[in-house]
Amino acid sequence: MTDVFDEVVGQERVVALLRAAAAEAPLLRGADAVPGSGAGAMTHAWLITGPAGSGRSTAALAFAAALVCPRGGCETCQSCLDVAHSTHDDVEHVVPEGVTYSVDEARELVRRSAMSATRSPWHVFVVEDADRLNETAANALLKAIEEPPPGTVWILCAPSSEDVLPTIGSRCRHLLLATPTSQEVATALTEKFGVDPAMAAFAARAAQGHIGRARALATDEQARLRRADILRIPTSLGALGDCFVVAADLATTAKDIAAELCDPRDASERANLLAAYGQGGTGKGIGTVERRVKGPLKELETRQKQRRTRATRDQLDRPITDLVAFYRDVLVLQLGASSGLVNEEMRPTLERLAAESRPEQTLRRTAALERTRGLLEANVPHLLALEALMVSLKDPSLTP
Ligand SMILES: [Zn+2]
Repeated sequence: MTDVFDEVVGQERVVALLRAAAAEAPLLRGADAVPGSGAGAMTHAWLITGPAGSGRSTAALAFAAALVCPRGGCETCQSCLDVAHSTHDDVEHVVPEGVTYSVDEARELVRRSAMSATRSPWHVFVVEDADRLNETAANALLKAIEEPPPGTVWILCAPSSEDVLPTIGSRCRHLLLATPTSQEVATALTEKFGVDPAMAAFAARAAQGHIGRARALATDEQARLRRADILRIPTSLGALGDCFVVAADLATTAKDIAAELCDPRDASERANLLAAYGQGGTGKGIGTVERRVKGPLKELETRQKQRRTRATRDQLDRPITDLVAFYRDVLVLQLGASSGLVNEEMRPTLERLAAESRPEQTLRRTAALERTRGLLEANVPHLLALEALMVSLKDPSLTP
């Protein structure tokens, strides 16, 4: 028998705990017991952590579905389908609009968390990127998370518990996801998505335990081509001028993909706002519409700009991860370590690079990649950070 937890790959221990909690949940809602008050499996605030791609949101949404489904997450009823399509009224999937959660977003969450569920026993909030709750936003949420109204459940997701403010983290039950093995990811790709075993093995290895990424590589040729382009970078930086061309290419691609994701939403938000202020209408007062809409429009544009910056940065994280794996492979060869290569299909190139450079240089290149991630995180202009990175990759002695 399959259920919603089948989507959660390679996390037996966590799935067992979530199943137990979901099984206990209906009993709690029937009685006036307060969830979380005892040592029971169910509680009202959870923090699910794990590295990128380990399936934090998948686990959180599976648990949410199990709570609102009359059969504990059967995967087939209307309730489960609605959760899967993000259309369930009682399951709110929350993502920060900008780089961090604003205090307004936090207050809005508090307001909605006070409302009862409409069609199921639980009102569930899946809060992505709980590490992006800064002090003010976290303070606004604190009480709602500590003592939610009966029937409200918080499921916070973050890369690690250290990334979450202790005031929030300490009020949640913590579940730690492991990085699934390549074998687990490959099996999941074959069984769930019918991917050919050879392709599944390649995608699982290349994605290094990141399930969503593995699936994209296995099923989307564009994703494979983009990855191949990225992995050509280390051998294409012949002259200093190349560094600037490659950096500009990377920045433009990230910007274009982010635009594809953001443009439609931005346009519809703008249209909705203008409509709400009566633009396009006729009659009395139309002259003042433009004046009244000016402030809200400016606010919306600021929010949209932040969202776009973040989407662009997310697009740059992928190439950096792929390049870190590339140089890790070079180092493995240089040190004669016995671990397998992430980019096995590039072995000849990797061996040549390993022979032509020294381990210290490889380490410097890896450090430059990690530093770039930090710079992008700190909102340094993308192009500048990428140019500096390419120069360091070309000539690691130029790295500070
Ligand atoms: Zn169901």
